[in-house]
Amino acid sequence: MQEKYLTEEHIMFRDAIRAFMEQEIEPHYEKWEKAGQVPRELWLKAGEMGILSTMIPEEYGGLGLEDYRYNAIIAEELARVNATGPGFAIQNDIVVPYLLRYLTDEQKKRILPKVATGEWIGALGMSEPAAGSDLQRLKTNAIKSGDHYILNGSKTFISNGMMCDFVVLAVKTNPELGAKGMSMLIAERTMEGFSNGENLDKIGLKGQDTAELFFDNVKIPEENILGEAGHGFYYLMNNLPQERLSIAITGVANAEAALEWTIQYCKERIAFGKQIGSFQHSRFKLAEMHTELTIARSFVDECIMQLNEKTLTAEKAAMAKYWVSDLQCKVIDNCLQLHGGYGYMNEYKIARAFRDSRVQKIYGGTNEIMKEIIGRSMGF
Ligand SMILES: Cc1cc2nc3c(=O)[nH]c(=O)nc-3n(C[C@H](O)[C@H](O)[C@H](O)COP(=O)(O)OP(=O)(O)OC[C@H]3O[C@@H](n4cnc5c(N)ncnc54)[C@H](O)[C@@H]3O)c2cc1C
Repeated sequence: MQEKYLTEEHIMFRDAIRAFMEQEIEPHYEKWEKAGQVPRELWLKAGEMGILSTMIPEEYGGLGLEDYRYNAIIAEELARVNATGPGFAIQNDIVVPYLLRYLTDEQKKRILPKVATGEWIGALGMSEPAAGSDLQRLKTNAIKSGDHYILNGSKTFISNGMMCDFVVLAVKTNPELGAKGMSMLIAERTMEGFSNGENLDKIGLKGQDTAELFFDNVKIPEENILGEAGHGFYYLMNNLPQERLSIAITGVANAEAALEWTIQYCKERIAFGKQIGSFQHSRFKLAEMHTELTIARSFVDECIMQLNEKTLTAEKAAMAKYWVSDLQCKVIDNCLQLHGGYGYMNEYKIARAFRDSRVQKIYGGTNEIMKEIIGRSMGF
């Protein structure tokens, strides 16, 4: 974030998080990409640093900060070291808000302290093989039976899917009712009938485990339903702006970092007796990227402040998600081009950024769906 939006406490927090990312993540990340996931110890270390508990109240072992700028700093610092795989933002920006808003006090006491320390890793399961953009077609169902629900179905593309200890699921509790029959519930890894498939083989985000999850007659106690049964669609819609803004934050920070590495490269690389940055074409490209990222940064920071003030609208979050992720991919592609053949080599940071950025236009709701949301807000 621009420093004008940060207090001294934010800056101290940012510097500590930056040092953590540079020491504990950046040097090991390539090894973890090969392993297809980060180690559990990293989650525990992140928990110790307060990375997983910014918003969790102190009574449940968190930092109790109630200020989204801290989450933004964490997402930005991960993007800065080019390690967008660890699913911390999934926990902080997607899973924790559901837990804080809709868990009973008893459930908060049971679950939140373990989430804060990194002992328990969470995931969000909305997408299914036949229902991604069109969530109303969800088939996974949880049917009431006495004092519990019986869960059946499957979810796909679930980030943290191999490592998660629990998953917040969107399910149908009343399949006849369409959106009104949708509920959110927590399925726990130790429950009988909960399993996962292989770690999915993706083109990027290699350090993040992404998996299919299966539920075969899983017995879910009724206290694991979030809020009220039948309100799931509304809860999803309520939480999506924060998830989408988080994607935009990662996008702008990762593209800013890519531009920095590229400026450096353009100074060092010589062709035709000149620094490659001094060719008019390169200079104009750098100027365009700098301009567009300056605009993106202002917009994203404004959205962060609005989320804090609870005035961020769904359509504005959709604008940030679609426009910034498009820009991120464009900037990173231009940066790769300026690296020439070296940009295509995996040992260069820009190559990883290129692979990892592509999914930003897809997950969290595709950019086409973002335009639908914006268009609908205009009365169409
Ligand atoms: C790496 C990765 C991690 C993910 N993590 C998670 C996760 O943690 N949890 C989770 O629940 N999901 C996750 N997803 C799933 C992701 O959110 C979906 O892939 C996404 O919402 C799109 O759904 P789909 O893949 O079924 O595509 P579809 O919905 O089948 O869309 C296919 C194409 O049709 C277009 N399209 C569809 N409907 C419309 C329309 N009305 N107008 C215009 N175009 C349209 C889409 O934009 C897209 O281009 C992840 C995906 C990936 C790749």
